[in-house]
Amino acid sequence: MTRPEPSSDETCSAGDASHPVSPDVAAARAVAIAAAVAETESIDLIDAQGRVLAADIASPMAVPPFDNSAMDGYAVRLADLAGDGPWTLPIVGRVAAGESVRAPAARGPEALRIFTGAPVPEGFDAVVMQEHCKRDGDKVIISGKRPRVGENIRRAGEDVERGALLASSGEPLSPQRLALLAGAGVASVSLFRKARIGLISTGSELREPGQPLAPGQIYNSNRVVLRAMLSRLTWAQVEDFGIVPDDRPLLERTLEDAALACDVLVTTGGVSAGDEDHVAAIMRDGGTPLEVVKVAMRPGKPVKVGRLGQSVFFGLPGNPNAALVTFRQIALPAIRTVAGLRDVVPVWQPAVAGFGYARKGGRTEFVPVRITGRTDAGVPVVEMLGRGSSANLSAMAAADGIALLPPEDETISPGMPLRYEAFRMP
Ligand code: AMP
Ligand code: MG
Repeated sequence: MTRPEPSSDETCSAGDASHPVSPDVAAARAVAIAAAVAETESIDLIDAQGRVLAADIASPMAVPPFDNSAMDGYAVRLADLAGDGPWTLPIVGRVAAGESVRAPAARGPEALRIFTGAPVPEGFDAVVMQEHCKRDGDKVIISGKRPRVGENIRRAGEDVERGALLASSGEPLSPQRLALLAGAGVASVSLFRKARIGLISTGSELREPGQPLAPGQIYNSNRVVLRAMLSRLTWAQVEDFGIVPDDRPLLERTLEDAALACDVLVTTGGVSAGDEDHVAAIMRDGGTPLEVVKVAMRPGKPVKVGRLGQSVFFGLPGNPNAALVTFRQIALPAIRTVAGLRDVVPVWQPAVAGFGYARKGGRTEFVPVRITGRTDAGVPVVEMLGRGSSANLSAMAAADGIALLPPEDETISPGMPLRYEAFRMP
């Protein structure tokens, strides 16, 4: 993976990618080198929640499969209801859900006792709800308005026609979608296998919580935040390679192994231009030019995107807020692409600034914000937390989400519309 004589200036060897690009462009370049996993698997509906469908599904049957009653009441033939009501009809049968009866041969005006979900025999064209009926021995007296054709009858195929598209490839399966599939008798679905996401925390200063800290050491917070966010992705599976110290040969070996085992490899730390920033150096000297070496964003400017073997590589900066923001903004769309999802770009919600902020423009800034109120129209009004430090864990922990401050706005004033991305609640 190494080439001799590494250039000390990363901008020299990276061609076009050396110019800082906007976060959108960086995310798009990552998506462009990502592809859905090739393997699919057949999974029972009951285990498919949140997984990504790998093929369109057409309905094998009509839903409901037969005309059935929407009410408890009496099935009638409208032709039997002469003139104005009330009408008195003999009751010639009874049909409950799960039963099936042949239509009695019409011998004259007649009604059928029927219950919700029971098939409506052919020829009967309305169900009168029992609240409008009075039973008198083996007769029923129907009062109220004349029923309409089809009243209280759920027609075969009115929900789903046979052959209709039930779900499309690239869709994450929601509980509601699974209900539709179950209703049409689909037992198992073809899914993309879970995307394998490799995680490496780089930094000789890192220890895991629970271990003692020697002078100069800090706890690894990036691992847990990324693991936690990845654990919400029902279509992903994590391969955690733990902490790797700033030791180039060791890091190189780990990156190579990880790239073989994963579809996407995410590292944190070591992507700036310092002597100990080996991730940047390894990627810079590797065979495949990086797609992204610098992004006009804050935090997260040195984030790297490229290919490493068969995997898509994201070198996130080590600063915790930078790692979190670049993971969400730059890596996630490509990770979603690898998982087979069709919709991969983040959905921003509108918000309104509840704060003023004079800033240096030119870079998109992602800031932790808390919702402090709502406009009359219900749009969240957000307050910025913790000005700017990309190492500050407390501001992010207190935030409801992240707001995007566009590069062209040097002054953010109260009332200004902003884009906002909520952290999902646990
Ligand atoms: P780096 O990107 O390696 O230069 O790291 C930038 C800063 O983030 C340094 O102060 C690191 O100590 C810190 N840092 C790096 N990795 C982590 C991590 N996994 N958890 C917490 N802080 C980190
Ligand atoms: Mg480091």
